[in-house]
Amino acid sequence: MSLKLFNTLGRKVENFEALNQKNVSMYSCGPTVYDYAHIGNFRSFLNADLMRRFLEFKGYNVHHVMNITDVGHMTEDQAVDGAGEDKMLVAARRLKESKKSGKTDFLNNPNDPFEIAAHYTKAFIEDAQLLNLKVAFEHEKNMPKATDKIAGMQKVISKLLAQGSAYIGSDKAVYFDVSSIKSYGELSGNSLEDLQSGAGGRVSDQDQSVKKDPADFLLWKPDSSHLMKWPSPWGEGYPGWHIECSVMALENLGKEVIDIHTGGEDLVFPHHECEIAQSCAYTGQKLFAKYWMHTRFLLVNGEKMSKSKGNFYTARDVLEGRVTGKAVDADVLRFELLKTHYRQNANFTEKGILDSAQNVRKIKEQIEILSQELGDVDSKVETSITKEFEAALDDDLNMSAAIAVVLGNLKSSLDKKQHLASLIRISEVLGLSKFKYEEMPAEIEELKNRLNQARANRDYKSADSLRDEIISIGYEVRITAQGVEVKKKLA
Ligand code: AMP
Ligand code: ZN
Repeated sequence: MSLKLFNTLGRKVENFEALNQKNVSMYSCGPTVYDYAHIGNFRSFLNADLMRRFLEFKGYNVHHVMNITDVGHMTEDQAVDGAGEDKMLVAARRLKESKKSGKTDFLNNPNDPFEIAAHYTKAFIEDAQLLNLKVAFEHEKNMPKATDKIAGMQKVISKLLAQGSAYIGSDKAVYFDVSSIKSYGELSGNSLEDLQSGAGGRVSDQDQSVKKDPADFLLWKPDSSHLMKWPSPWGEGYPGWHIECSVMALENLGKEVIDIHTGGEDLVFPHHECEIAQSCAYTGQKLFAKYWMHTRFLLVNGEKMSKSKGNFYTARDVLEGRVTGKAVDADVLRFELLKTHYRQNANFTEKGILDSAQNVRKIKEQIEILSQELGDVDSKVETSITKEFEAALDDDLNMSAAIAVVLGNLKSSLDKKQHLASLIRISEVLGLSKFKYEEMPAEIEELKNRLNQARANRDYKSADSLRDEIISIGYEVRITAQGVEVKKKLA
């Protein structure tokens, strides 16, 4: 069965054909680490993880890289050359204020953007691991930081300058010359004429006379007063935001043309359009990525998330119970953020979380019941259930249809081992693989033995208090004809 994907490049559904047989290279624009990642960010990252897991399900080897943006991402990032201020500097100011008023206690020096970036990078990896993003478990290799790649960026910029695809503006900054690349505008559907006339306010407010064309974008900004700065042939300064992704994709995936590039819908223009322009100018290839996948935005109660509306939630807010008043299991948040097709806006609601909690529980419980009866099974099988699930996701990752397949097959007339194997294989794609039972802690084992003993002695008072103690630690207790059964409480 073949995967059909909507490709932003060309704006149509296409058959997925990897560039190199069963090996897929995939790059995802990662977080800007100036704050904790919010649930909208995670909707995009989780859909990239879903794509990876589904390709692995289909037998591909996927090399997935997701960068950490710790420099160069500006507050007005819809302007082609990234106007406004570097987001890390804005964070430094915010944290300085909140440290003064005692609200921030984790920074030694709130003026040090490197320390801020390190703090939020660590937090991101923790959150991403909780949400079971595979790439987060390979972060040392596959999650490069922009600040570690400055030399690579300078190498690319030097070549672009040498071949005439870039130039130095009258403000001494280095700009990419969009007229040097014919395909500029193909991804987003923006024509150069539209951009030149400033359509959509997408060129920056800065003095346009410094550039040859309003659509030209920043590669290097000399600014010795900037807190994050590096020496360069064009003066001490910092790189533009777009160049970092081209360089990390090239260096970390080791390919001039990659299979899949992902990001949220807001990145199509200018970020991805600019990535394509400079990458293709540098490599001389016609393509930078064959397939472009963009996730539509997550809304909260039907509205855009914003701090002023008070509906701006980090993943931590949800997981730690600050949104629904009760801690939410990471598997449940993952399921909730993935359950809507990635090309539709998803709507985050409390009711949605409750529904997802029920559905996750049903899936995990069924796997657990069958596992307790059958033990380990070989989960590589293909069955009528896995085929139906695969067909749903083959249709441009139609997750709502795929979830309907799972929920409709919790009971099945298949052989029990085949049924269990199908559910396990599917939950690997959903990323609900943490149902696997951890060994029972010795403390619980001992309480269980004491409970059995108390019941044998007909000491029901002690039995009741032992039972309550086990439950309070997060375990379920069932009294059966064979004795006491204890198992970890599921989400
Ligand atoms: P940033 O940390 O701002 O660079 O964003 C990281 C990723 O999250 C990018 O791919 C954005 O497109 C994506 N993103 C931002 N807001 C949302 C949202 N509300 N829903 C889905 N994706 C989002
Ligand atoms: Zn990027």
